Amino acid sequence: MQKQVNIIFFGAPGAGKGTQAKKISHELKLPHIDTGSLIREAIANKTELGTKAQQFVESGKLVPDQLVIDLIREKLIVLKDKNFNGFILDGFPRTILQANALKSLLEELKLDLAYVLNIQSPENILVKRLSSRRLCSNKSCGAIFNLVTRKPKEENKCDVCGSPLYQRKDDTEEAAKERLNEYHNKTAPLEKYYRDQNKLIDIDGAKEPEEVYNKIIKILS
Ligand SMILES: [Zn+2]
Repeated sequence: MQKQVNIIFFGAPGAGKGTQAKKISHELKLPHIDTGSLIREAIANKTELGTKAQQFVESGKLVPDQLVIDLIREKLIVLKDKNFNGFILDGFPRTILQANALKSLLEELKLDLAYVLNIQSPENILVKRLSSRRLCSNKSCGAIFNLVTRKPKEENKCDVCGSPLYQRKDDTEEAAKERLNEYHNKTAPLEKYYRDQNKLIDIDGAKEPEEVYNKIIKILS
């Protein structure tokens, strides 16, 4: 059996980690576990966890640890049953507590963490990117656009499927700044946590997406 490669994509909201994780997932055929999507799916399906998560998402706050952990746990167990070759985790962990919970979970499932890719960008770039973001309203499409870096060909219309685009409530400039503050308070200690374990690899996310992508592929191969 092929060796498993389990990777965490790490970086502030707007650092481009979601876009990169999606591309890398496709290229290396590794399942992409995006906690943002997991949460939105649960909210859309009005599951018990989803209903709990909704109030936090709408006020631009991070969803509490235990909720996210429960969602991730389910997902990893399903994937593990399919004899997979690894995963890309995107948007988790965000706190030391989550990192410890993940560590226990991986130990229990006999999975090793290979790398934590830390995509870094200056705050002003992050706020600009976040408040320019538009998402496809078609849940099964999920295309992401950016009025600065990835403009849709037609205004307010998805290039892929033609559905209308929308701005998430936590992507306005004010909400973006709040998210970044919360990120720095809660997530920054994780950099040290993974650096101390020799898992952390820094990547300059201010560069062009193509350049960032090539850098990541080089690291993983
Ligand atoms: Zn679409």
